[in-house]
Amino acid sequence: MKRRKFLRNSSTVAAGMLSAPILASCNETTAAKDTGKTPILPIAICTWDFGNATAKAWKVLEKGGSSLDAVHQGVMVEENDLNNSTVGNGGRPDRDGNVTLDACIMDKDGNCGAVLAMQNIANPISVARKVMEETPHVMLAGKGAEQFAYEQGFEKTDLLTEESKQAWLEWKKTSQYKPIINIENHDTIGMLAIDADGDIAGACTTSGMAYKMAGRVGDSPIIGAGLFVDNEVGGATATGVGEEVVRTVGSFLIVELMRQGKSPQEACEEGVKRIIAKNKDKQDFQIGFIAINKKGETGGYCIHPGFTYRTFTKEGHINNPSDSYLKS
Ligand code: ASP
Repeated sequence: MKRRKFLRNSSTVAAGMLSAPILASCNETTAAKDTGKTPILPIAICTWDFGNATAKAWKVLEKGGSSLDAVHQGVMVEENDLNNSTVGNGGRPDRDGNVTLDACIMDKDGNCGAVLAMQNIANPISVARKVMEETPHVMLAGKGAEQFAYEQGFEKTDLLTEESKQAWLEWKKTSQYKPIINIENHDTIGMLAIDADGDIAGACTTSGMAYKMAGRVGDSPIIGAGLFVDNEVGGATATGVGEEVVRTVGSFLIVELMRQGKSPQEACEEGVKRIIAKNKDKQDFQIGFIAINKKGETGGYCIHPGFTYRTFTKEGHINNPSDSYLKS
């Protein structure tokens, strides 16, 4: 519902509506640090129209912060937004009424961390980062991830808001007790950023498909599927039906296509078309990819019309209506 509202409003945003404080801060954009690397203008991009998230990431980047901190703090905005029913606190529960969260993060050196199907912790992306930085592992799942979070000082939080609970109870009345696969019940935030040093990082976080089977995990916390970064080439991240993205190792595929010379836009289109080719019989599902290359060029492509992605640079924020495979 929230995304629909965003889409309705997107034309005004696309017209370049910048608030005065944002313009003021953009004028103080950080110059590239003297690292001996080719200077590049910082940029943050994310799936959908999560403008507050890219604005937060930009705040980190313009102060000379790292792309890793930018994506971490950027996606946390959505994890903390109780009105966002597809990410973090307030996310829709599984079919048993439990909110289980998935997230992953990846830095310029290929370090990564992820949590899968974790309950009771409001910021899975922060726990994913702790997995990356404080353990020799890449993924922690379920109870183990939750236990690790408590050991790291995270607080136990009830993630099921009254609104999400009521929506779940309503769904139970008529549902066939199957996870709902449609475009209204899954909207992950995946974010990619390049900092003033030209280094790329990415983060991806979601409550997954609404009313999924208990224990179901999609692509979002899987490095290579929901997110992949190669600091020599670029990064990609996904939203939509995770099973299809996992099957094609989607984000890794897109980065590899960019390595072979495709632009971010061409690579996203090829990634979606590969998935379509494997699903000739069923096209009524949504997959969207966004990508960025080392030069800071971006692209996005989706199966369904209506996909947008958000970029934030020193010029301000832009909501990019993305092209799609199935035209409206
Ligand atoms: N990709 C997520 C998943 O499959 C859902 C989404 O992007 O909306 O869990």
